[in-house]
Amino acid sequence: MANIKELDKQYVMNTYGRQNLTIERGRGCKIYGDDGKEYIDFGSGIGTLSLGTADEGYIQAITNQLYKSQHVSNYFTCEPVAKLAEKICTLSGYDKVFFGNSGAEANEGAIKLARKYSFDKYGKGRSTIITFNSSFHGRTITTLAATGQDVFHNFFFPFTEGFKYSPYNDKEAFLSNLTDDVCAVMFECIQGEGGVNVMDKDFALFLAEECHKRDILLICDEIQTGIGRTGTLFAFENFCIKPDIFTLAKGLCGGMPCGAFVASEKCSSVLTKGQHGSTFGGNPVSCAAGNYVLDIVSAPSFLEEVKAKGEYLVQKLRELGKETILEVRGMGLMVGIKTSLVPGEVSTKALENGLIVLTAGKDVVRLLPPLVISYEEIDEGVEILAQLF
Ligand SMILES: *Cc1c(COP(=O)(O)O)cnc(C)c1O
Repeated sequence: MANIKELDKQYVMNTYGRQNLTIERGRGCKIYGDDGKEYIDFGSGIGTLSLGTADEGYIQAITNQLYKSQHVSNYFTCEPVAKLAEKICTLSGYDKVFFGNSGAEANEGAIKLARKYSFDKYGKGRSTIITFNSSFHGRTITTLAATGQDVFHNFFFPFTEGFKYSPYNDKEAFLSNLTDDVCAVMFECIQGEGGVNVMDKDFALFLAEECHKRDILLICDEIQTGIGRTGTLFAFENFCIKPDIFTLAKGLCGGMPCGAFVASEKCSSVLTKGQHGSTFGGNPVSCAAGNYVLDIVSAPSFLEEVKAKGEYLVQKLRELGKETILEVRGMGLMVGIKTSLVPGEVSTKALENGLIVLTAGKDVVRLLPPLVISYEEIDEGVEILAQLF
């Protein structure tokens, strides 16, 4: 039998630092390798497996749609697509949704929307978008430019123009960046890839107020924080702000590919016929999955559970009292452990001990367990982490 790791290495572009595990399948919050071992999942396939792996109802929802059709062109309407859009709008109080396939694509669309909103109202020359240091917004040329980290601004020149970066949670610096050419500000309520950095509530309110005064659109990147991850359906609810546009992807369809940008009434009619599109966007199977995920995750009792389990996880980690744990931070089931150890080494050792974790920034081990994780599984995972720190 061919060695899968060798095959992968030979034929798949080596753009990822692959872990030493070939995943065969999963069930709930457990992952099974082709080595026959069981792993506790504190990574959710990078925050996508909202309901864990292979949930029975989820499989049914997808299968039912597959028996009808696996793809419908966007020149036609289709029930799961319209219903998912309705659900997102009803639950958020927003006006309209555009469906793509990924986070980067969602952010690209949001950027196009913001620039056209400004062009329609103010004409050329007002197209700059402010983002924040340590942010992450995607891997396309434009969303790399939007990403406020120098390491992402190499090799692929020329990048899309019109982005500038402001330090996170710094009011003075932000004000000085608010020049006449700015049309939008894009931000994460909690910077996921950048290190699980939580925005100050005060700063979020300041941001919203200053932008609103100047008719600068607020784009909230909820790709990692959205769909229940932080204990509310959308993270911006925790910060008492209402951005003009927000973007979704990762957890939205529970592991099926989908991205979306969602616009408030103020800017929901800016993009018109022929101005945006995506062949695969709004895939009916993904949307059927999304409808199933949202029906479960949006229940207030479910979100309360996420919050409670998140607090439990954070408390347990703090109680370990380990010297190599410098800080435990986050919200809901989005948790960062700032450490004096090398995060990549912690994740490798965790895997050897039967636990999947993620890293973020330079010095953070990031935990994004499925939202359905049990207290028992949290205990098991923390026990393994206790040995590593
Ligand atoms: C993952 C992520 C993206 C990019 O999503 P892709 O689906 O990988 O394109 C963008 N923004 C944030 C905050 C993310 O976490």
